[in-house]
Amino acid sequence: MKDDSIEVHGCHKYDATGAISNPIYLSSTYRHPGFRQSTGYDYGRVSNPTRDRLEETVSLLERGERTWALSSGMAAINLVMILFNTGDHVLLSEDLYGGTVRLAKDVYGHYGISFEYVDTTDPALVRSKLRPNTKAIFIETPSNPMMFISDIAALAELAHGNSAMLIVDNTFLSPHFQKPLELGADIVLHSGTKYLGGHNDVIAGFLTLKKRDTEIAKRLEVLVKSEGPNLGSMDAWLLLRSIKTLGIRVERQAENALKIAHWLKEQPQVTQVYYPGLPDHPGYALQQRQASGNGGMVSFKVSSAELAQAVLGRLQLIAFAESLGGVESLLTYPIAQTHAEMPKELTERTGLDDKLLRLSVGIEDAEDLMDDLQQALGKDIL
Ligand SMILES: *Cc1c(COP(=O)(O)O)cnc(C)c1O
Repeated sequence: MKDDSIEVHGCHKYDATGAISNPIYLSSTYRHPGFRQSTGYDYGRVSNPTRDRLEETVSLLERGERTWALSSGMAAINLVMILFNTGDHVLLSEDLYGGTVRLAKDVYGHYGISFEYVDTTDPALVRSKLRPNTKAIFIETPSNPMMFISDIAALAELAHGNSAMLIVDNTFLSPHFQKPLELGADIVLHSGTKYLGGHNDVIAGFLTLKKRDTEIAKRLEVLVKSEGPNLGSMDAWLLLRSIKTLGIRVERQAENALKIAHWLKEQPQVTQVYYPGLPDHPGYALQQRQASGNGGMVSFKVSSAELAQAVLGRLQLIAFAESLGGVESLLTYPIAQTHAEMPKELTERTGLDDKLLRLSVGIEDAEDLMDDLQQALGKDIL
């Protein structure tokens, strides 16, 4: 089956009623027919039929063998971090979601795991940073918010040559546009809050493994069962419903984003536009090779911090808010919001500054979005 069909039907199993929509199972526990007999379900933390359908659907989309639907994107990132031990070394993309940086620094750093930030767009540089104790390379591509593109296949090869894993946070493109496991990654994860949820109404996360019968898979089974970071069944149902329209949403978002990126380039107040669908983006060729779409995230710089801040207050249709991926367009000011806790040394390296705005393009009419940006940018070049 092709993705558009998987998204709509997933692995829906018709029950006796013939219900087209997946039932929401709200039972926390399950009656056993007798001693040593089970329906396959025992207790809700371990498994739930609604959540199972969702996990199977995401596995199909990511071409993986096992998915866990979790209470947030951070819960998914936390599960990969727990896999490391004291003394391990982990390489991270230097442009990254701020919450991942905080988790590494303020939580796992205290357990003697060393995290090193590297420009993962440069595989030769990554190779030079690998150590015998490097256990993983963790990347985002496109990265948040600078939209750097890293070569998933090349990094997977480097990681595997060092007996390490490649972990990809695929939030920015969703499985509809990019399938890291097919390119060699070992683990793919998502903030399901973003494109998979798609309506700015639910917090969720996913972790998908390429292989089911591995030590990592067994370890994760124990961790999830023991720690209980699972997604509730109501939210699992919302995600299943959202994924039915994933394709048409993200394609429309990417179409709008491309129009807006071209338009932004023409505005006198805009000094830089970062969108991997623009042919002059340094990662353009790689992006076209490894993904089937460019996504709905556009970052841009304006002429001054004063102007960036003024724009936020003048928006009418677009909301000034954190988050991304929903049908409603949002504008974020990374330096003060998502990346406020980012070490200065990293933001200086990547160019994330107080002139940068990050637009999550929704499915509204592109002209209306550009009109709103135009009036918000104002007439003066501050
Ligand atoms: C939002 C986000 C996360 C964190 O996900 P939550 O659902 O907010 O916990 C992780 N990675 C990226 C790229 C994100 O955008």
